[in-house]
Amino acid sequence: MLLIKDASYVIVSADQVLRNTDVLIDGSRIFQVGQNLPEAGCETVIDARGKLLSPGFVNAHTHLYQNMLKGMGDSLRLKEWCEQVTFPFSNVIHRYERQLGDETLGYAYGLLGAVEMLRGGVTAFINMDNNMTTQLEAWEDVGIRGALAIQSVNRWVPKELMIPDGKRLEKLEETISAWHGRGLQDVYIAPSTPFTCTPEFMKKLQALARKYGVKIQTHVSETEWEIQQSLEETGMTPLRYLESIGFLDDPIIAVHCVHLTSEEMELCRRRKVTVCYNPKSNAKLGSGIAPIAELREMGVDLCIATDGAASNDLLNIFEDMRLGAMLQKLRYNDPARFGEKEVFRMVTEGGAKAMGLDAGRIEAGKLADLILIDCASAFIAPVHDPISTLVYCGKCADTVIINGRIVMEGGVIQTVPEAEKVREAVRLGEKRFAETAGSPLASEF
Ligand SMILES: [Zn+2]
Repeated sequence: MLLIKDASYVIVSADQVLRNTDVLIDGSRIFQVGQNLPEAGCETVIDARGKLLSPGFVNAHTHLYQNMLKGMGDSLRLKEWCEQVTFPFSNVIHRYERQLGDETLGYAYGLLGAVEMLRGGVTAFINMDNNMTTQLEAWEDVGIRGALAIQSVNRWVPKELMIPDGKRLEKLEETISAWHGRGLQDVYIAPSTPFTCTPEFMKKLQALARKYGVKIQTHVSETEWEIQQSLEETGMTPLRYLESIGFLDDPIIAVHCVHLTSEEMELCRRRKVTVCYNPKSNAKLGSGIAPIAELREMGVDLCIATDGAASNDLLNIFEDMRLGAMLQKLRYNDPARFGEKEVFRMVTEGGAKAMGLDAGRIEAGKLADLILIDCASAFIAPVHDPISTLVYCGKCADTVIINGRIVMEGGVIQTVPEAEKVREAVRLGEKRFAETAGSPLASEF
């Protein structure tokens, strides 16, 4: 048993905060929440005086290979950004993976991203990325919950990144069989976007998801360019198009949803589409501000994410919470329409629901995915409203518990030698990046 003793604030949920409270953990789950819980029988007691205890955060969408592409492409829109920033590096990754069977880079960026997220209080995440299982091994080593949403395409991207559909589906099935629901790790299916997959391929991916009961995540309506392209090709906006091919018959996580018609917002509600908000990424690429306040008022399921480090530059979800809330105030010219409680709910309960985790609240029976934040730091103190402080002033976690295990304590990661592992990962990333030769790869559209 693990006892978190006398936390100054315990954020049970977006609607309830307790003072000076203990939380007792038995195995992977919260056993009891209360005051003066007995220490007898506890192997570990954490003194949480002066600390704020919160459910762990869920980063519902990222691309960890982009951790090797930080600080690039500051003035590019999505299409040019893909061609100049992400495609050339993806090409090098694919060459090593497919031609040489070398997946060491997957472990390197998988670890780097997991460590960065852990420091920002993330206990679970969804990474839309290459089909390299070394990433899952890295997350196992770190002790974090990670879902690899295997990114699939069969058009639009440069020919260098193409694989025959049959081969792609075969490897996808192999990874699902080996890793779906293994320990804290999971595998999802991720057609990258409706415009990078033919409808026939989308249906094959959907059939595979149904066969294994895995979740589906896809990018939808990120840019105005994409809407125009969809209207020209299909006569429909992207989400309407997805419905027309039966792709919304299963619940999906739709990432971005910046440009939705009122009919599409209603579709989200009716077809159980979970919308994933990526405020910083959408801001950096000049894509727009998603209508999150409206979706929330309609009862649509919502989560929040950083997106990859090439369109955010950090995987610190505190920044996305903060900017995400503020951008909604700006979009609707109304500071009261969307705020700290709404965004906090998205990063905890919303994210947990999207990933199918029985977590996101500090209550007996829930999974023990918890973070402690030091209230005495100059960023935080003084605390007047714990949720507001966490959302608008938070920078990093002090201690992180995942599945009842202490993964970081007092800012020190307990599971892997961080400095050494990060150094190795960065060295390999720099070496591979040098092989991109700086030349852009054009999309085939
Ligand atoms: Zn993305």
